[in-house]
Amino acid sequence: MATQTRYTDLGFVNAREMFRKAIDGGYAIPAYNFNNMEQLEAIIIGCVESRSPVILQCSGSAIKYMNQTFLKYMAMGVVQMAKELGGNIPIALHLDHGDSFDLAKTCIDQGFSSVMIDGSHHPFEENAKLTRQVVTYARSRDVSVEGELGVLAGIEDKVASEVSHYTRPEEVEAFVEKTGVDSLAISIGTSHGAYKFKVKPGEETPPLRFDILEEIEKRIPGFPIVLHGASTVVPKYVEMINRFGGKLDNAVGVSEEQLRRAAHSAVCKVNIDSDTRLAMTATVRKILAEKPEEFDPRKYLGPARDELVGMIKHKNESVLGSAGKA
Ligand SMILES: [Zn+2]
Repeated sequence: MATQTRYTDLGFVNAREMFRKAIDGGYAIPAYNFNNMEQLEAIIIGCVESRSPVILQCSGSAIKYMNQTFLKYMAMGVVQMAKELGGNIPIALHLDHGDSFDLAKTCIDQGFSSVMIDGSHHPFEENAKLTRQVVTYARSRDVSVEGELGVLAGIEDKVASEVSHYTRPEEVEAFVEKTGVDSLAISIGTSHGAYKFKVKPGEETPPLRFDILEEIEKRIPGFPIVLHGASTVVPKYVEMINRFGGKLDNAVGVSEEQLRRAAHSAVCKVNIDSDTRLAMTATVRKILAEKPEEFDPRKYLGPARDELVGMIKHKNESVLGSAGKA
């Protein structure tokens, strides 16, 4: 394994201060997943242009896809790029859904400023023990840690569950106390992937369980809560993908209205992965369909990147309220 790298040397910050400000200010920090150069650039450009703090996040399988060492220097590169663009915005590099102590440790040792350890599929005590182990190591390096209680349905990279289990509010105090986590991911009705709700065309999606969220807030007031599976599954992109040869039947996400409400609450980190994938895929499909003679990747990945910049700015400005907070 390569020598250890401190996240501060790469220009990242941990998530603690971002969360404190977001809770005080009634907005949420966007946490965008990425797995290639164009996505990463788009996220940074969108956040610099809207002056938003940002959490860049990738799952274990995304890290493998990019290569850990390559990822480190690419991430370091975008921090410098943000500065050159004139935006000194706070940027965290976060492991999404870490499933083992070893993976979390490797990320911490390779320059991540924040990690999630997801032991939510384990029984409570086992989850707490694993999470505590990661917190202990992370603390010694001033890295922030996100834990999870409750299970989200759906598929996100290697994370898969058939059914969702809502977070049990009566467990949150003990979990936060035992583990020392900095933030807690909860399950209140969202799910991973592009098919979040089973609804017929034209039907309203069911509301999130804000009653559970409120119960949790009562028990751990002011504690940073994280919402996973929070893509809108932007209808415009689903329609574009289907129009240009794709097949995403009944793909549906969380409405912007529900996300705005969540952002005003103790939810201070909102995870968005599917929407960045959809924006890029829709653009690439459209261009390749309309210009079949095109074979220069810059001619379809460039516009896909531009489209994603617009989407990121919209989310920061009109949904999460994080624009102008950096
Ligand atoms: Zn997730």
